[in-house]
Amino acid sequence: MNIGETAELGSHVQTLDVERIRADFPILSQQVRGKPLAYFDNAATSQKPQVVIDVLSQYYQRQNANIHRGVHWLSQLATEAYERSRAVVQHFLNARESREIIFVRGATEGINLVAQSYGRDKIQSGDEILITSMEHHSNIVPWQILCEQTGAVLRVAPMNSAGELILSEYRALLGPKTKLVAVTHLSNALGTINPVHQIIDEAHSVGALVLVDGAQSVPHLHVDVQELDADFFVFSGHKIFGPTGIGILYGKGEILEAMPPYQGGGEMISSVSFTKTTYNTIPFRFEAGTPNIAGAIGLGAAIEYVNSLGIEKIAEYESELLAFGTDVLTQFPEVRIIGTAAKKASVISFVVDNVHPHDVGTILDQEGIAIRTGHHCAEPVMDFYDIPATARVSLAFYNTEDEINRLALGIEKVLKVFS
Ligand code: PMP
Repeated sequence: MNIGETAELGSHVQTLDVERIRADFPILSQQVRGKPLAYFDNAATSQKPQVVIDVLSQYYQRQNANIHRGVHWLSQLATEAYERSRAVVQHFLNARESREIIFVRGATEGINLVAQSYGRDKIQSGDEILITSMEHHSNIVPWQILCEQTGAVLRVAPMNSAGELILSEYRALLGPKTKLVAVTHLSNALGTINPVHQIIDEAHSVGALVLVDGAQSVPHLHVDVQELDADFFVFSGHKIFGPTGIGILYGKGEILEAMPPYQGGGEMISSVSFTKTTYNTIPFRFEAGTPNIAGAIGLGAAIEYVNSLGIEKIAEYESELLAFGTDVLTQFPEVRIIGTAAKKASVISFVVDNVHPHDVGTILDQEGIAIRTGHHCAEPVMDFYDIPATARVSLAFYNTEDEINRLALGIEKVLKVFS
């Protein structure tokens, strides 16, 4: 393959000033194994701009205090910053009210919260929970646990060989027994963008609620929970350029208001005595104990950073980069892309003939190129394609065509080593 030729493919990708953006991310200017770092593991976790790092360190230098219960100045400062972040998230998702935004540890905790609070309260033996065959383990296992606890049944809507949900099969699985549909917005293993608007409409027509796993979508796509009419929407801060250990559960106000607590402890109560405890209003009912205050504030800063670039511009740039990367990789006859949906974003999963994905990853690492190899916490997806693992390139707005050209050179090296 002629690398110089492929570099022409995406030469009009100019919607973002990527050089300037890269300067905001100190980690990206590092050398790894003597080579400039090319970071293609954004679906696992994304890098942090200086502004997020600064907000975290300033919080601990100048604002640190416990929130909500303090009359002193620092506590009020920390509370204000924490609640301001909630409002930033509210506007980012276009939620109707800030009380619909619950701070949790991440997408995983958000899903478990819904399963254990809403699910254990409302779902009964014989009811059905419907997921898809491309879900992350975080959107499978909590429902399996709920089914064990309640006697409900887990149904799985299949996908086709391109990695697209088969909508007719999904529709056929919906019925009066379906109480909840849980679906990924964007598959971390395949890059498929699911038609969540349509999925939600159809679920609502049989009276089922829908949880959207937005762990992969929020860093790449515009999300409007009111327009989607999602009942629940979860995401993780660390995948959207914010800190680890913080994430969001959005729920419609009237649904959250009727849900029992998930965890007991401080903050989630209205009053406690040994004979009777009453619970706080939302969102606090679901934020038991001292939360990740710094993380919440850092997440607010990360979202403001994304807003400053513009999610539409990010999506446009990344979709051209995805097309470029896909073209570059498909020019290798030995490379097979896993996940070829018509609607995709940010992820290129692939296998190389006669080379284990871990070997692909190890050789690329020698070139300073970070990709992820494995089952990507989506073992049923690997089973579907009858492969143990894939190599996965996952993009962010700070990735470049030059980096993808380096990836191509790395793949050439892999092929040479294994020829
Ligand atoms: N859902 C999807 C689609 C994901 O990609 C991930 C993370 N890989 C998760 C859920 C879980 O996210 P977290 O580990 O941050 O809770």
